[in-house]
Amino acid sequence: MATADVLKPDFATRRKHFIFTDDHDQLRDSIRRFAVKELQPHAEEWEETTFPDWVFERMGELGFLGLDKPVEYGGQGGDYYTALVLAEELVHAHCGGLGMGIAVQTDMTIPPVLKFGTEEQKQEWAVPAIAGKKILCLGITEPDAGSDVSGIKTRAVYDDATGEYVINGSKTFITNGHRAHAIVLVTKTDPDAGYDGFTLFLVPMDSPGVIREKRLQKLGMHASDTALLAFQDVRVPATSVLGQIGKGFYHIMWELQGERLIGAAASVAGAQQVFDRTLAYAKERTAFGRPIGRFQAIRHKFAEMATKIETARQMVYTTAWRFENGEYPVREITMAKLYAARIAVEVADECIQIHGGNGYMKEYGIERSWRDLRLNRIGAGSDEIMLEVIGRSFGL
Ligand SMILES: Cc1cc2nc3c(=O)[nH]c(=O)nc-3n(C[C@H](O)[C@H](O)[C@H](O)COP(=O)(O)OP(=O)(O)OC[C@H]3O[C@@H](n4cnc5c(N)ncnc54)[C@H](O)[C@@H]3O)c2cc1C
Repeated sequence: MATADVLKPDFATRRKHFIFTDDHDQLRDSIRRFAVKELQPHAEEWEETTFPDWVFERMGELGFLGLDKPVEYGGQGGDYYTALVLAEELVHAHCGGLGMGIAVQTDMTIPPVLKFGTEEQKQEWAVPAIAGKKILCLGITEPDAGSDVSGIKTRAVYDDATGEYVINGSKTFITNGHRAHAIVLVTKTDPDAGYDGFTLFLVPMDSPGVIREKRLQKLGMHASDTALLAFQDVRVPATSVLGQIGKGFYHIMWELQGERLIGAAASVAGAQQVFDRTLAYAKERTAFGRPIGRFQAIRHKFAEMATKIETARQMVYTTAWRFENGEYPVREITMAKLYAARIAVEVADECIQIHGGNGYMKEYGIERSWRDLRLNRIGAGSDEIMLEVIGRSFGL
């Protein structure tokens, strides 16, 4: 073989995945620039105060809240991969709670309004939400029912006399719950009808009887607001029903697929970010006369982490390709969500270890990554529920 034929591995090249085009790369660069310049400088402050509402407005102005939404509703008309790019690049804000609050808007609430809503509902809520002028939240979980969505107790009862629905119940752990203008609310309209007894509503949060109770304190994601909400005789017109009466359970199961896939993408991106920061640290920090990354024990940790991150990334991208191409790959979305959430927490944990005592210190931000990423094994369906969905998909 001639010398010129000897190919050397090029480990520095940025690997391009086949789902992404040059346009996606440009979008990636512009979101990253925005996150680093306009968001990251405030990250520490927002850990204490939660991120401000102007972030929604600014991102709406830049078109980032409607990247994959139809042009006729103010979106950019891009493909699903643009949503992945947003979720991935927002990690550069170094503010996990912000990424989650934005994802509630872009991937958990606007999609069901666009998919199941009437034209009036789309105009009233989706259009201003895409513009960043209205903020939405999603109410599934209740104090007595989380994983078991069918166990929710919030009732919506039709009042023949007025033609309104009267809603009573409570929701907890609601992201954006304190700042939202409206909630996509899961209720029971017919408790005897099993899975056919659920109905979604779009409820304005300034309706009489909507009470924003406690601002909940949590392990991580401190920049997000998390609310306990009560609904006491809240009256809404029949036009507030979102989708079909009695089909709310199926509607919300559809919503959860997008939520889980975007959560998986954010988990991979979060893992990559903490990996990158730790790699830089391992090249600089010395012990016993050499950079700690040169110890085989540490080098192998990086090798293990990189392999897990790459595996999770491939699962997310391939599943996103199926989603974008009209398949409804529930099993694969569930696997991607389960795997990505797990490895992200494993990676963050190893990164604390590699940082030694500094990993335990707030100053380095590695412990915060671990706290933020830890949510992904619980939120949007816990690991155990993901295993149930996957296991049952085999007819077991
Ligand atoms: C920071 C944060 C933000 C959130 N944001 C929102 C939001 O915006 N909107 C919203 O509606 N919800 C939100 N959630 C709620 C989240 O989706 C739920 O916490 C999650 O679905 C788990 O429900 P749970 O907390 O009630 O746990 P539970 O359902 O009580 O589960 C407790 C434990 O039992 C396990 N378990 C339950 N059932 C089974 C089973 N069948 N087999 C095996 N194990 C089982 C679970 O996996 C878990 O380990 C948020 C949660 C957090 C922490």
